[in-house]
Amino acid sequence: MRSEASEGTVLGADVCVVGGGPGGRALALALTRLGCDVVLLEKRDPARGGAPAFRGESVSPDGVRLLDGLGVWERLRKAAHRVDRLEIEDAGRRVLDVRFADFPYRYRHPVELAQPTLLAALAEPAGPLPGTCTVLEPATAVGLLVEGPAVTGVRASTPTGTVRVSAALTVGADGRYSAVRRLSGLAEHARQLPLERDVVWLKLPFPAEWDRRAYRVRIAGDSHGLFLPSTDGTVRVGLNIPKGGLRTLRAGGLGQLHARIGHLAPEAAEAARDGLRSWSETALLDIFTTELPRWSAPGVVLIGDAAHTLSPVLGQGVNHALADAVTLAPLVAEALDRDRRAHGRALLEALQHFQRRREPDVGRSRALQLRQERMFTLTAPAATALRRTVYRALDASPALRRRVLAPAYFPGQRPVAPPEQQDAASEAAPV
Ligand SMILES: Cc1cc2nc3c(=O)[nH]c(=O)nc-3n(C[C@H](O)[C@H](O)[C@H](O)COP(=O)(O)OP(=O)(O)OC[C@H]3O[C@@H](n4cnc5c(N)ncnc54)[C@H](O)[C@@H]3O)c2cc1C
Repeated sequence: MRSEASEGTVLGADVCVVGGGPGGRALALALTRLGCDVVLLEKRDPARGGAPAFRGESVSPDGVRLLDGLGVWERLRKAAHRVDRLEIEDAGRRVLDVRFADFPYRYRHPVELAQPTLLAALAEPAGPLPGTCTVLEPATAVGLLVEGPAVTGVRASTPTGTVRVSAALTVGADGRYSAVRRLSGLAEHARQLPLERDVVWLKLPFPAEWDRRAYRVRIAGDSHGLFLPSTDGTVRVGLNIPKGGLRTLRAGGLGQLHARIGHLAPEAAEAARDGLRSWSETALLDIFTTELPRWSAPGVVLIGDAAHTLSPVLGQGVNHALADAVTLAPLVAEALDRDRRAHGRALLEALQHFQRRREPDVGRSRALQLRQERMFTLTAPAATALRRTVYRALDASPALRRRVLAPAYFPGQRPVAPPEQQDAASEAAPV
């Protein structure tokens, strides 16, 4: 249900979710399925278009599993583009070729999925649900309501005035620059680790000789680029540049950007020259990771990028935002029910339990990403030779590949025996 706010509106809910990205929308859906009443605030104006381009299009196999559990995968299947391979080339030679079909899991394939399509599916449940979800958009959370030591809701600014939402639980699902994290004080002990590079994102016509079902990583010295098939038939390119290096790159003109792409992927050189005409067709992602010792305080909890910003390596952000939502919802629904009867500490304990359940998986993804980020930045000949050796060792050993990649792609799945193997993404229609 969408609703218009008028000046001084006061709304009540079990849970107020701030942020309508993958984490916030999935949580609102999971909670309403469990009978909770939710108010969701999203600052973007739907009249001005959907989610920003380039964002969150790669969804890992575990993300597909979570979407299936939320009951939205069947509706998304046709819009998703299944990916079969991950290929890494270093110094012009293929050093790793991962075939997702070889992994012994029920959900084996990552998919590409436009974020507006994903968000629309999460926002529109297939049928009536026991709880209610009121969505205010645009509505920007600007303050928290506080009573004693506890957060009791949110103050939000909307085009028609201020809205106050009072709720037993406020959830900051408001992304990497989270206002709820800052306003709640949870940001105080945050450890932000800037990585050594930023990423420029852009889209190009798809090179004719490339297989549309492969992720490509191209490395040359300390430069690298990600080349990912997109649902709109283009290739999404993530090009690394030195931290803060956009100004220098732009000063060199678009020709320099074309040359970088051509250096990493000669097959895409012509597409870059012909297809990329303006800097406005690019977007910059400032790469950092954020670690918080505490994800919650009385009456408030953070999920997704707000709780643990990750780097874009191996497309982990959407998956972890969904996993947070799916893990948190039943804990909260049960705790609210117990608290209503006993006025107890159930909610606070549930929030701590949530962090204990999710932190190890997030930590494993972060460690894998940081290791990979370091590998990308090696320059000395001996170090880059070692990097190629590591990739080749992975390429040669299915067991090693599984050990290294499972935390990123299959953290919530147990291996299945071959006869039971059945891939829920494998029937995804080609785009
Ligand atoms: C260029 C780019 C490419 C990426 N590619 C991938 C990828 O391929 N695969 C992948 O897994 N991850 C990718 N990511 C990361 C991924 O987008 C995030 O990890 C993921 O979206 C996190 O989901 P979230 O719901 O926690 O936060 P977000 O998706 O950031 O959603 C937060 C929402 O909160 C809203 N909001 C913010 N502040 C307020 C406020 N004060 N009041 C109300 N609403 C507010 C925002 O408008 C937004 O809609 C990419 C990120 C970027 C920037």
